[in-house]
Amino acid sequence: MLPAERPREPSKDKPKGEALAVAADPALVEELVAANRILFRQGVVDGFGHVSVRDGRDAARFLLARSMAPALVTAADVMTFDLDGEPVPPTANAVYAERFIHSEIYRARADVRAVVHSHSPAVIPFGVVSSTPLRAIYHMGGFLGRSVPIFEIRSAAGPASDMLIRDRTLGAALARVLAAGPVVLMRGHGSTAVGGDLRQAVYRAVYTEVNARLQMEAMRLGPVVYLSDDEAANAAATNARQVDRAWELWKMTACGAGPVSGGEAL
Ligand code: MN
Repeated sequence: MLPAERPREPSKDKPKGEALAVAADPALVEELVAANRILFRQGVVDGFGHVSVRDGRDAARFLLARSMAPALVTAADVMTFDLDGEPVPPTANAVYAERFIHSEIYRARADVRAVVHSHSPAVIPFGVVSSTPLRAIYHMGGFLGRSVPIFEIRSAAGPASDMLIRDRTLGAALARVLAAGPVVLMRGHGSTAVGGDLRQAVYRAVYTEVNARLQMEAMRLGPVVYLSDDEAANAAATNARQVDRAWELWKMTACGAGPVSGGEAL
């Protein structure tokens, strides 16, 4: 017989979430749902693009929705993937073809805990004109620094790919060009932003798009005075402490008050 005072296992008391994700923190799932809707409302994703977050309980796994438009994602659509980009457990659900963007960046970057991939429009020109780098034009884009690297898929997939990151090899090639940075442009395709948490990755994705739009407008007026390296680094450090301020506004705008998973889809 067991001693009468033996405590019950705490895991037995854990409320069971409705998400497909195995053993995922319901609060993290909720945050990921909010991120999906915010990115749509802020014009970063449309019917395409996706956002993931590393599983706080298992660094070798991450959470990502099944293949669908981000604005329509609910907690029930969130799945768990391993670092090979395979769903855990295996599923009949359709999964994003480009999930290897996420899995290979998580594999390469222990510091990265969230990834946003998008085709946000203002960024596209900077991915196809390599002589004009995307760089920090104002303090909100300070994290961009002096230049953002461009991934050339022809270097990894040859001259006739469909431009998508369809396997681990291409994901790893993209992660190598991202290197230790916050953002990588993808020529003729889009961009990918990473962060130390979900809110930072979303912040970077939003302000990569805004900075690109403003940079294009400024360049039409004349020679641009960009942030210096020191200004960019200092602005990035300051803004990294202010991400919650933007997040709360964006979440309210995209999701309304209260928990997002029970709210109405956009
Ligand atoms: Mn894509």
